[in-house]
Amino acid sequence: MKILVLNAGSSSQKSSLYSIDGELPNQSPEPLWEATIDWAHHPGFAEIKVKTATTEVKEDIEVKSRLDIMAHLLSMLWQGKTAVLSHASEIDVVGHRVVQGGQEYSEPVRIDQTVKETIDRLSTLAPSHNPANLEGIQAIEKFLGTEIPQIAVFDTAFHRQIPDAAAIYPVPYAWVEQGIRRYGFHGISHQYCAHRAAQLLQRNLEDLRLIVCHLGNGCSLSAVAQGHSIDTTMGFTPLDGLMMGTRSGSVDPGVLIHLMRQGYSVDRLDRELNKESGLKGISGVSADLRQVMEAIEAGHAQAQLALDIYVHRLRSYIASMLASLGGVDALIFTAGVGENSAIVRSLACESFQFLGLALDSQKNESRPIDQDIATSDSKIRVLVIHTQEDWAIAAECYRLQSKL
Ligand code: AMP
Repeated sequence: MKILVLNAGSSSQKSSLYSIDGELPNQSPEPLWEATIDWAHHPGFAEIKVKTATTEVKEDIEVKSRLDIMAHLLSMLWQGKTAVLSHASEIDVVGHRVVQGGQEYSEPVRIDQTVKETIDRLSTLAPSHNPANLEGIQAIEKFLGTEIPQIAVFDTAFHRQIPDAAAIYPVPYAWVEQGIRRYGFHGISHQYCAHRAAQLLQRNLEDLRLIVCHLGNGCSLSAVAQGHSIDTTMGFTPLDGLMMGTRSGSVDPGVLIHLMRQGYSVDRLDRELNKESGLKGISGVSADLRQVMEAIEAGHAQAQLALDIYVHRLRSYIASMLASLGGVDALIFTAGVGENSAIVRSLACESFQFLGLALDSQKNESRPIDQDIATSDSKIRVLVIHTQEDWAIAAECYRLQSKL
């Protein structure tokens, strides 16, 4: 089965083509073809990078719309140096990462007219993401035909079973009735990591209590019990919870009221909290932790403060997830920071030594991937897992299509 995965952002898109035959493998195979498109940097142009087993191509193309980009991208699957198919009809199914599935979806679904209308309706909750997902779905219909099965895999679905006590904000009940609640995001990554952790620990997922720390540009934690998310740090939007690269995470809502009274517009608050806060806002150096660490080495006080806040909040929220679970078998680190920063892992774990959590510092510093980095006598396992969102989407497509 040839599965094309589209992971669309507001100004970027990742795409991968997987080929799966027979048993679904436990681990991600290399995709046949991988592409990233970025059109945030030069207005009117998109930078496309495509990688196959034998070649890598980078080009800038002039574009007017996402449809233009999609047409060009798809053609690179069967034309030119990056071709891995002889014809478009070889693609069996297309899987989309859809950011907001609201309270409607707790599982991946085959896309039909009703699903498209629901994704569209939920755009009010995810204005910069759901419309991009819909455009991706429409582009596939236009270029590959309406008959090709398309599947939506929702970033919120894994958190759909979070109990109301953890999901509902203590606001006027009329807000709750409007759908204002914690939805949580990064669900595809949290779910993948929970399954992979059970494999690595050779335990049943149903018997495990896990805390997954997805620390990338965006950051969120989940508390996973019996294979389900029962609490998470992102909320109604991906702005809640932990400090992130450019996002603030939770702040006292009174600050926003204060600033609005001083004349801040909604757009300014939106921009400053989403794009000018977090590591970037406090350090004044960068949203990228690597550059923040370099500045700390050079004695930059604001960079040190940024790291201190990042770690303080990470520890606080880990403790909050711990309380929701009533204990923990494994702490999991994933995504750019979680997979690569030994210092963040070690600082985060330091606060939980009193629980008998002991990190093996040599393992922690040896660029571990899909490994347990706790000492053999640690009471809590600590795993570093390379998250594989696109593969997780492909695997869901395979499961759903194989059932038909
Ligand atoms: P992601 O959103 O998962 O792609 O994560 C991207 C972020 O990971 C970057 O902005 C960096 O802050 C962080 N990152 C990547 N590599 C490293 C590294 N070696 N050390 C610290 N942070 C890293």
